[in-house]
Amino acid sequence: MSLLVVGSVAFDAIETPHGSVPRTLGGAASYFALAASNFTPVRLVGVVGDDFGKQDEQILRRRRIDLEGLERAPGKTFFWAGRYNQNMNERTTLVTELNVFANFNPKLPESYRDSPYVFLANIDPTLQRSVLQQARRKPKLVALDTMNYWIERTPAELRETLKHTQILMINDDETRQITGEHNLLRAAKHIFKMGPKTLVIKRGEHGALMVHNRFLFSVPAFPLEEVHDPTGAGDSFAGGFMGYLASAGSITDESLKRAMVYGSVVGSFTVERFGVDRLKTLTRHEIDARAKLFSRLTAFKL
Ligand code: AMP
Repeated sequence: MSLLVVGSVAFDAIETPHGSVPRTLGGAASYFALAASNFTPVRLVGVVGDDFGKQDEQILRRRRIDLEGLERAPGKTFFWAGRYNQNMNERTTLVTELNVFANFNPKLPESYRDSPYVFLANIDPTLQRSVLQQARRKPKLVALDTMNYWIERTPAELRETLKHTQILMINDDETRQITGEHNLLRAAKHIFKMGPKTLVIKRGEHGALMVHNRFLFSVPAFPLEEVHDPTGAGDSFAGGFMGYLASAGSITDESLKRAMVYGSVVGSFTVERFGVDRLKTLTRHEIDARAKLFSRLTAFKL
């Protein structure tokens, strides 16, 4: 079933202890869409500038991502630069140039308005809500990501959008910041009162924790000898997670757990190479093979 994503499409400059790239396709919506395209048809809503070339577009088109909702505006594409040191859990943002993204006002093409699965990547919560308002019918599942900037500056708007969201996917700091509660399980109870009935806490190299109002489920990050570039791991996790759920067609406790595993597996491929490089060639076969290893990694008898 179709999966709609709205979020940033960017050029990134990335430095890690393994090397650097001065300009590569990035943005939360790009990582999400490429990751999810292994499972289900993806529709993308975003904005790029006139420096966004055919070859950049081709990276997304080759994975059959629907770009009818990718607007072109006069000016430059959103640019982000970041640096990682030996500890890849910490990154320094060096540059954020919003460019055409500053005036982004998402518009859903007619053909997108019936999307049953929706992922609202990290953008202004008012714009996230406007995407939902443009839907012809209520989506089956809405998941949302956000960041400290919006939690601090637009808390009321974020709360309003959360009322229409079933799954909140954020990191542990953001969970604490939204709720003012340090303990993640108690924080989840606050989140449940705001709307979402499922909280997925992304924890980088420590994996991810799902707190659902009926159960808890935890996945590790797949152990790798070398992480080349962690950029986009969280958005790839979200893409694998939502892509799997959209392909499964039903949302049950078991499909939510499998979605956690697929999210972690796809995220682990992304970090093996710079930018979206690994996602360009990733296949469902490779994903399933790693998911099997994952199941051996975590299974035990009592
Ligand atoms: P992640 O590593 O999953 O947090 O995502 C990294 C991606 O987020 C990069 O490709 C950036 O282009 C994009 N990004 C960085 N800052 C922002 C922002 N303020 N709003 C939207 N996207 C951003």
